[in-house]
Amino acid sequence: MFTANEILEQLVKLYPVAHSDLHFQNHYQLTIAVVLSAQTTDVLVNRATKTLFLAYPDFASLSKAKIPDVLAHIRFLGLANTKAKNIILLSQKVMAEKQGVLPGDWDYLLSLPGIGRKSANVILSEGFGIPRIAVDTHVLRVSNRLGLVQTNNPLVVEETLMKLYDPSVWHSLHLRFVFFGRYLCKAKKPSCALCPFHSICTYEKKS
Ligand code: SF4
Repeated sequence: MFTANEILEQLVKLYPVAHSDLHFQNHYQLTIAVVLSAQTTDVLVNRATKTLFLAYPDFASLSKAKIPDVLAHIRFLGLANTKAKNIILLSQKVMAEKQGVLPGDWDYLLSLPGIGRKSANVILSEGFGIPRIAVDTHVLRVSNRLGLVQTNNPLVVEETLMKLYDPSVWHSLHLRFVFFGRYLCKAKKPSCALCPFHSICTYEKKS
C-alpha cells in the first residue's frame, strides 16, 4: 500500500525533472500557448507558437491581428478557428483593461476568452508561482487509477489532491501526474509492466 506522499516519491523517481513541455518565455506566451493547448498535444502547440510569436510578440500586436492571418500559424491545431478568435479577443481585453500586463488574478483569468478553470490553474502555477493543481484528462485518469479519488468530476479531484498534498508540491505534482499519464499510464494500452503502482492500481483492465 502506498500513501499519497509515497506515490509522489515514486513519481519523483520516474520523473526527476518536472517542467512544462510547452515553450514560453513570458506571461503572454504562456497564456496563448495554454489556450492553444486544448485538445492538442504540446508538440503541435510548440510548432504553432514558434512562428506565431515571431509574427505577434505580445498582446498589443496580437490584439490587432486578423483571424485568417492567425490561422495561417495554427491551422493544424484542433479547434483552430475558435482558438484564433479567442486569442485575439483575449489580447484585446488585456490591452483594453490591463494595458497589456496580465495580472496573476484568478477571477480575471477566468474572465478571459478561452480560459477555464484548468487553464487558469496552469497559468497561475507556471507563470506566477501560485500553488495550484490543474486537473486535465491525465491527472483525472491517473488519480482514479491510483485510488486517490473515485470520481470523474475534475473539481472534486482538484480539491481532493489539494487536501492530500502540501501546497509546496502542487505544481510539480501536477506535472508528474501529467507525465505519468502521458507516457506510462496511457488511456489505452498503459505500460503496466513498467509501473511501480501495480499493487495499488484500481484499473480493472491493467495488464
Ligand atoms: S498498473 Fe497500469 S493502469 Fe495501473 S497505474 Fe500502472 S500503468 Fe496505470
